[in-house]
Amino acid sequence: MSKGNIGVTSDNIFPVIKKFLYSDHEIFLRELISNAVDATQKLKTLSSVGEVKGDLGDTRVRVSINKDKKTLTISDHGIGMTAEEVDKYINQIAFSGAEEFVNKYKDKTEAIIGHFGLGFYSAFMVSKKVEIFSQSYQEDAKAVHWSCEGDPEYTMEDTIKAARGTDIVLHIDDEFSQYLEEATIEGLLKKYCKFLPVEIAFGNKKEWKDGKQVELDEENIINDVTPAWTRKPADLKDEDYDKFYHELYPTQMDEPLFHIHLNVDYPFNLTGILYFPKIKSNLDVHRNKIQLYCNQVYVTDEVENIVPEYLTLLHGVIDSPDIPLNVSRSYLQSDNNVKKISGYITKKVADKLAEMFKNDRENFEKKWDDIKMFIQFGMLTDEKFYEKAVSFALLKNIEGKYFTLDEYKSKVKDAQTDKDGNLVVLYTQDTDANYTFIERAKAKGYDVLLMDGELDVHSMSQFEQKAGDEGKLRFVRVDSDTIENLIRKEDAAKDSYTDEQKEGLRKAFEAFIPKEEKLNYYVSCEAASADALPVFLTQNEFMRRMKEMSAHQQGMSFYGQMPDSYNLVLNTAHPLIQDLVAKMTSEQVSEEVEKPAEKEGEEPKKETVIKTVYNLQGEDERLKQLIDIALLASGQLKGEALAKFVNRSVELL
Ligand code: ADP
Repeated sequence: MSKGNIGVTSDNIFPVIKKFLYSDHEIFLRELISNAVDATQKLKTLSSVGEVKGDLGDTRVRVSINKDKKTLTISDHGIGMTAEEVDKYINQIAFSGAEEFVNKYKDKTEAIIGHFGLGFYSAFMVSKKVEIFSQSYQEDAKAVHWSCEGDPEYTMEDTIKAARGTDIVLHIDDEFSQYLEEATIEGLLKKYCKFLPVEIAFGNKKEWKDGKQVELDEENIINDVTPAWTRKPADLKDEDYDKFYHELYPTQMDEPLFHIHLNVDYPFNLTGILYFPKIKSNLDVHRNKIQLYCNQVYVTDEVENIVPEYLTLLHGVIDSPDIPLNVSRSYLQSDNNVKKISGYITKKVADKLAEMFKNDRENFEKKWDDIKMFIQFGMLTDEKFYEKAVSFALLKNIEGKYFTLDEYKSKVKDAQTDKDGNLVVLYTQDTDANYTFIERAKAKGYDVLLMDGELDVHSMSQFEQKAGDEGKLRFVRVDSDTIENLIRKEDAAKDSYTDEQKEGLRKAFEAFIPKEEKLNYYVSCEAASADALPVFLTQNEFMRRMKEMSAHQQGMSFYGQMPDSYNLVLNTAHPLIQDLVAKMTSEQVSEEVEKPAEKEGEEPKKETVIKTVYNLQGEDERLKQLIDIALLASGQLKGEALAKFVNRSVELL
């Protein structure tokens, strides 16, 4: 038997391990099982090149709990270790400047473990004593027993071990008794080991029989050793991909829309499957995440720095030994491999979508509503993706027909180009609320798009900027002005009223406009059209859009805090308004106005002018009624105001 001190320069690494790695202590199981799997795979490699002779026999890794002895054991039948190897790999761990490093990276458990090859030592996070029993595959090698009680002293002696391989026995600390519970261990195995390439057995399978759980004569295998992403696409059917999706996300009910199988081996290694889920709302986003594996070992589901942000909306797995896992997250983004990986995935995703669009447009259109948010998010955040996606991103009109931007431009070009050469695209966010405006647009032979998605407003702004032919493409909501003004074909129609008459008319209406906080109405006169409503509301496109966009964006709260404002348009081409003008009385009033001084240094002159002022009396009920009709037509008449309107209407009849 030999005794020794574990070769670390720092006095004692164990308190360090316990203290700093505390928060993530469950990863000890992943580390130990990874070692067991590595040892098994090394053996298989040696066997395949003839260095190990004969049948390898049982190669399962087994995890078992002994509640009486308070131990958790991980056993493998891999290459094992000789006494010299235990000394070299376990005792002599390089640990220079340990404390300094640990202090620097306190919060980055993974970094510390990886950096120091502390995989094995993570066992001490939860154990008061750890033992190794190992029998090397090498002929004549003696089995070795190593034991350490969580201080730098260890003992090592020869032992007898029947089978080749290694048993790691953890004497679990009382504080961590949860790791002696089957349910805890099974949960961790499912989390970290579900797709490891070597079978992991944990106890026997159980079955419910007559209301009782009975143990079967068959081992409970935790993992799928050849998960779909490790197989050839040619060997897989759509059903296999769907099945794997549910293996990945057991609580997910919906089927994925489609998948992309990733496979590269140059200039970096990466395999994986990405799934397009149905994204119904913001709430669904990020419930299931892309999982990152390293040679089939689960690493994390936080892939934010590895794939572009919009791709984190996808589901699936990425497996790459080339992603540096043990560095800080911010470093990841600047890593060259990671950049290449991110670019590769973006291209793959865009190519797949383009191919689907080209080969089966009908099916692509069916899926469009479900994938739209993802594609728009990608276009808005990733220039390269925009360039590809602009050729297959779709616009839907209120009849449910789909067009690419180019197709749509040529469809509406003739009818909807105004006298200044602007191509005006009309849209609605709510066909019911904009009903009257839509009808008027249709009557003119115009088309209306349905833009009711969460990112539509951002997306149309992007189209205007990037595909707008120098500002000549404009998206406007149908109710943002009179249809005649939205797409001006000739100079605006004029009425024959004087400014004073219109001023009088405006004042008369202003007196009855509802006063509400955070809501402004501006009254204006316009000779719209005799068959339009006498009074109607419009809302300025720019202000409304800014407000909507600010709802999603930081730094734009300036617009978010502005009150909502509407124009109340008095349609002077309408007989009812003309009748009101006819009923106005006029009077001459004298008014004192200040005239600017003619020469410098002189006092401004005051002058009295005679003005004609128009008044409208005895028409209060009609004015109220007209305002209410305008509000009603825009869905803004509610509650008490609506009740008053109803009563007034009855009285009028
Ligand atoms: P890492 O796995 O990162 O190298 P570890 O501390 O986990 O660091 O393990 C150190 C070394 O000990 C391994 O590289 C391997 O050579 C050896 N080792 C650990 N566990 C086993 C095992 N179960 N069977 C054979 N060798 C092992």
